[in-house]
Amino acid sequence: MPDTDLMPIPGQIDPVPVARDITPRADGRIDLMGLPKKRIMELFAEAGLEPKQAKLRAKQVFHWLYHRGVTDFEAMTDIAKTMRPWLTERFVIGRPDVVEAQHSSDGTRKWLLKTADGHDFEMVFIPDADRGTLCVSSQVGCTLNCRFCHTGTMRLVRNLTPGEIVGQVMLARDALGEWPKGRMDMPDDETAAEYSADGRLLTNIVMMGMGEPLYNFDNVRDALQLVMDGEGLALSKRRITLSTSGVVPMMAKCGEEIGVNLAVSLHAVTKDVRDEIVPINKKYGIEDLLQACADYPGASNARRITFEYVMLKDKNDSDDDARELIRLIKQFKLPAKVNLIPFNPWPGAPYECSTPERIKAFSNLVFEAGISAPVRTPRGRDIDAACGQLKTAAEKKSRAQLDREAAEQKAKA
Ligand code: SAH
Ligand code: SF4
Repeated sequence: MPDTDLMPIPGQIDPVPVARDITPRADGRIDLMGLPKKRIMELFAEAGLEPKQAKLRAKQVFHWLYHRGVTDFEAMTDIAKTMRPWLTERFVIGRPDVVEAQHSSDGTRKWLLKTADGHDFEMVFIPDADRGTLCVSSQVGCTLNCRFCHTGTMRLVRNLTPGEIVGQVMLARDALGEWPKGRMDMPDDETAAEYSADGRLLTNIVMMGMGEPLYNFDNVRDALQLVMDGEGLALSKRRITLSTSGVVPMMAKCGEEIGVNLAVSLHAVTKDVRDEIVPINKKYGIEDLLQACADYPGASNARRITFEYVMLKDKNDSDDDARELIRLIKQFKLPAKVNLIPFNPWPGAPYECSTPERIKAFSNLVFEAGISAPVRTPRGRDIDAACGQLKTAAEKKSRAQLDREAAEQKAKA
């Protein structure tokens, strides 16, 4: 059964395959992972429960799903024993399949995952002394072709569903053993303490894995809403950062409807260089991008916008580049911090990383202008888990090839 429908993604001219909100399963059961409470309630009602029952059961199941990480209806102790087989016959609580789990010498972990219809994608966990960050993918591949990015050499296979996006967070919590263990039907002081977020390894989420999250806006929003829901995963929006290459028309919507921290892949300060290395710049130029940052809902000195800047030798790393970066940030009065990312190489990459001395000099210039400009330490390079190294097997195909495949898919559907 085909699992994808052809429909346009906002901001995209050509149709690309987009997954439905629920991927159909061979056994006919419905995967509840990634669905909000209201949708779960509707599905329970459609399966035959009275409206009041459907509402109550949806509330209970939602809690077990997202707050407790349970994947087996039999473990849902406050649901009547006779009800549990009824649920198991009709529904499942899924996770992406793990194809491979790798551990870097610096503690970084990378998982190669597979969707139910066989597409590979990746997630990365980066532990630090005071936090643990999960780097989450939004698409399999990417439509954009930033020249320094390995993912950019892949074609876009398809958008990930909300279930596949939030499923990455669930899987990370499974792997780290971070679900509350107390029994919900017998609350006491001892079990209550286990609900606390304190002491958890997974504290932050960055939408910086494979793909451009603002080209999969609805699914990313729906997934992050489950992550932020106080009755769900309950992670604060202040601990979530979404990184965009600069999809200007979607940025205000992102602030309004998701409200997470924003990171922008700036990487260059002149039209010529940005056109070359971040080609979406030809569509949305630097001035429009910075204006959208200045207007980003919720940005303030307490919640700054992060500008990511990859350091490419003799391409974007001169003193003049640093001075222009400062000028632009000041001109647009941006509450900004700059994150300098040493370029992570991959086979066949057309660039080299700037020297450590150059990176330091660039960072110092920006610092002296009163703007924080730390250098990001590369993590997980030995397992190709560092920024821009993520790439699975799908090769980038020509537009003509993609169009042919799209037409074939449509004919089959
Ligand atoms: N598509 C989004 C988010 C994913 S990329 C975006 O482009 O913002 C996360 C960050 O890694 C981006 O800032 C991206 O530009 C950067 N990056 C990509 N390739 C890189 C590489 N080879 N070395 C260092 N950083 C890279
Ligand atoms: Fe896509 Fe981001 Fe890589 Fe550019 S940097 S190709 S937008 S994943």
